[in-house]
Amino acid sequence: MKIFKTIESLQTGLSLIDTNMSLGFVPTMGALHQGHLSIVKKAKKENDFVVVSIFINPTQFDKADDLKAYPKTIDNDLELLKDVHCDFVFIPDVEDIYPENVKSSNFDFDDLDKVMEGAFRDGHFDGVGTVVKRLFEIIEPTKAYFGEKDFQQFQIIKKMVEKDHMAVQIVPCEIYREKDGLAMSSRNTRLSEEQRKEAPLIQQTLLKCKSIYAEREISNIKKMVEDTFKDNDILDLEYFEIADVQTLLSTNDKLPNIKYRAFIAVFAGKIRLIDNIALN
Ligand code: AMP
Repeated sequence: MKIFKTIESLQTGLSLIDTNMSLGFVPTMGALHQGHLSIVKKAKKENDFVVVSIFINPTQFDKADDLKAYPKTIDNDLELLKDVHCDFVFIPDVEDIYPENVKSSNFDFDDLDKVMEGAFRDGHFDGVGTVVKRLFEIIEPTKAYFGEKDFQQFQIIKKMVEKDHMAVQIVPCEIYREKDGLAMSSRNTRLSEEQRKEAPLIQQTLLKCKSIYAEREISNIKKMVEDTFKDNDILDLEYFEIADVQTLLSTNDKLPNIKYRAFIAVFAGKIRLIDNIALN
C-alpha cells in the first residue's frame, strides 16, 4: 500500500498504472470502521486497483464545532486499509484541495439538495459536490463507491456525474451495521454509554416502518415514529420522511411503480445520527 500526501505525487503514482486497468475510488473522511472497509473490499473485488482518500472536507460542515470534533485516527485508518489490501491512500491537505479559498462551488442538483440533510445542513451538499468533483478530476476513477447510509449524498453525486457528463460510474454500497443494528458511523465513537445503548432504536423504528408499510397510511407511520421519539429522553427526532428514491421528495401517498425509502435524522445530545431503509 502506498501513501500519497500531495496531488502531484499521487498523479505520478497513478500514471505508472497500466491504462487498461480499472480504477476503483472510495472517498472517506477517515476514522474508518468496518462500514468503510466493506466498501473498500467491494471496490477491490470489482477493480484492478483501488484508491481510498482520507480528507475531512471543511466546506461540507455547517457547524464549526462538528468539524473540530470530527474524530481523527489516521494511524489506525492506515492499518485497517493495509489489512484489506488497499493499493493507494491519498491524504491531501486542505490547501491542496482548495488552493485559492476554502469555499464551495454552487451546484444545480435539480433540488435533490433542498430536502432532508440539505434542508437541515446549510450548504452541505455544495461542499460535498465541490470536494468529490475535485477528487474525481485528480484521480479519474473508473468507478466510485458511495454508502447508502448517506443515500441522499449517493443520489446527488449520481446527479452531478450525469449533469457534468463525467466518465465515472457511481456504485451504491449497502449500509453496514453494528450487531445491534446501529448503522456504523465515525460519529458513533462520540456517543456516551447511555446514548450508545439507546441508539439501536433508530434502526428498530425503521424496521417497524417497513413491516407496517403495506397496510398503513403514510401519515399513520409518521405519527408512530414521532410518538416513539417523543417519549425518549435520550434521542431527539430531527426529521422523519418517506420519500421517492429518485426525486427524494417526501410523499403522503404511495404511488404505483415508485420506490420509497424512509429517512431519519436523530440527535443524541450534540451528535447527529442518520439512517434509512428501503420500504418497497
Ligand atoms: P464518511 O467517511 O463518513 O464521509 O464516509 C465515507 C463513505 O462511507 C460514504 O460513502 C459513506 O456513505 C460510507 N459509509 C459510512 N458509513 C457507512 C456504513 N455504515 N455503511 C455503508 N457505508 C457507509
